[in-house]
Amino acid sequence: MSARSRDRIFGDKLRAAKIRLESARRQSRDAESDIVAAECEVWSAQMEGYGGPAQPSPTIAQAVGAGFFFLEVKCRRCNHQGAVDLRRLRRHESTEIWRLEASLSCERCRAGHRWKAEVHMIRLSRAPDTSGPWYAPDELDGH
Ligand SMILES: [Zn+2]
Repeated sequence: MSARSRDRIFGDKLRAAKIRLESARRQSRDAESDIVAAECEVWSAQMEGYGGPAQPSPTIAQAVGAGFFFLEVKCRRCNHQGAVDLRRLRRHESTEIWRLEASLSCERCRAGHRWKAEVHMIRLSRAPDTSGPWYAPDELDGH
């Protein structure tokens, strides 16, 4: 078969199939990101409303990719509430959110008493509704 007759027979078919493939991939990516955002919301509602379970949880990359840039936490000792900016953590992006809890501590307690007070995770959020001194793990940059 000559190149010309092959192109006449299959060219349109191939181009149309490639366009359908691209469109299907785009829809699949959109659906995947909807799923991840919903997973972040489910995890947050579970943590905030029922205190867990924390596992399984989204990863840092998934949360940040879905626009959930902050992990809101609360000190077990003084109840001070704060948020950690997930984009600033020196952790591999495949780290699951629940694994962060053990490394977080309340800065207010640490400053006042020189001990490390543990925090518990409340929810992931796009913009934290807390202000004031934020919690920061030891791994944070510029600290
Ligand atoms: Zn505290």
